[in-house]
Amino acid sequence: MSTASPTGAPVPGQLTFVAPRRAKPARHLADLTMAERRAAVAELGEKPFRADQLSRHYFEKLNGDPELMTDLPAAAREKFATALFPRLLTSVREMTTDGGTTRKTLWRLFDGALVESVLMRYTDRTTMCVSSQAGCGMNCPFCATGQAGLTRNMTTAEIVEQVVAGARALGAGEVPGGPGRVGNVVFMGMGEPLANYRAVIGAVRRMVEPVPHGLGISARGVTVSTVGLVPAIGKLADEGLPVTLALSLHAPDDELRDTLVPINTRWKVAEVLEAAWGYAAKTGRRVSIEYALIKDINDQEWRADLLGRLIRNRLVHVNLIPLNPTPGSKWTASRPEDERAFVRRLEFHGVPVTVRDTRGREIDGACGQLAAAE
Ligand code: SAH
Repeated sequence: MSTASPTGAPVPGQLTFVAPRRAKPARHLADLTMAERRAAVAELGEKPFRADQLSRHYFEKLNGDPELMTDLPAAAREKFATALFPRLLTSVREMTTDGGTTRKTLWRLFDGALVESVLMRYTDRTTMCVSSQAGCGMNCPFCATGQAGLTRNMTTAEIVEQVVAGARALGAGEVPGGPGRVGNVVFMGMGEPLANYRAVIGAVRRMVEPVPHGLGISARGVTVSTVGLVPAIGKLADEGLPVTLALSLHAPDDELRDTLVPINTRWKVAEVLEAAWGYAAKTGRRVSIEYALIKDINDQEWRADLLGRLIRNRLVHVNLIPLNPTPGSKWTASRPEDERAFVRRLEFHGVPVTVRDTRGREIDGACGQLAAAE
């Protein structure tokens, strides 16, 4: 590992696996398993069934303020507020586009760190795109988040709170289209989720546990996107959580991928694809291959062919993402005719492929644009 530049921004190719040690936010109900919630409530001198009440308020009614939990004794409410419901996220700015159906929120964490989440409402579903780290250590040169380096890992509750905030806004009818619920969560905001493994798994568990113990979102509706931390992909496959794995491949050959996704200098294309097939075999879930099409960089037909040969006949789906512009990057999205040719080559190999409808470009809320600047 090379050393950081004096500004704190990573030098090209530098990888940061271990987040700087920072003070952690106070414990929140959403950090805890059901058993831990009961224990925490007992420690406060309250009956364990209060944990069920608190869970119902938070995960079912999306109420995170004990003052409003009027079925609890007033003295207990105060205790719970201090011990289990610290304020974790403060909204600094909301930006909307697509007639209000795409909404990016800039959040300030307790220590001043900034992260962003994006709510995307479609006709048939609503997806929350959440951050798992403040910043990111993976340093992909086409991604705005990667350019600022890693500030710190987020906690389970800080991740869950982003989903709860979105669910609250939807439930309250603040998003055009009438009241709704969050059916999908994608870990495609800031950060590398598998580099913050424990907190992310905790957050996934809170999301998929049935109401009232958790948010009751189907595991199939949760997507964990990764640059390809091979050992962590193996661990994820063993969790018994059938979430969708998205692999940010972006190049089928090591020479180019070494520069586009620097983690490739650790784990090569062949190794990361092996891990993805292992994930598919264990979970039965189709793996999603993410490929940002960058003009004249990775969009040649021969690369489409190479990719097609590597992944044909596998439980896989390719998501092509027209590159979103980021500050200081000279790269742009592929020409439409090159994009079409790329799709055709993959289809020739029988590989299912779609071009992602990127949302939120106008508000710097699309893939790779989250920089969390004030
Ligand atoms: N760290 C994780 C998740 C965050 S990024 C990961 O890399 O998978 C979510 C997706 O957006 C990834 O596939 C990422 O490669 C892609 N992405 C990053 N910058 C982009 C950009 N400028 N244009 C299009 N997609 C981008």
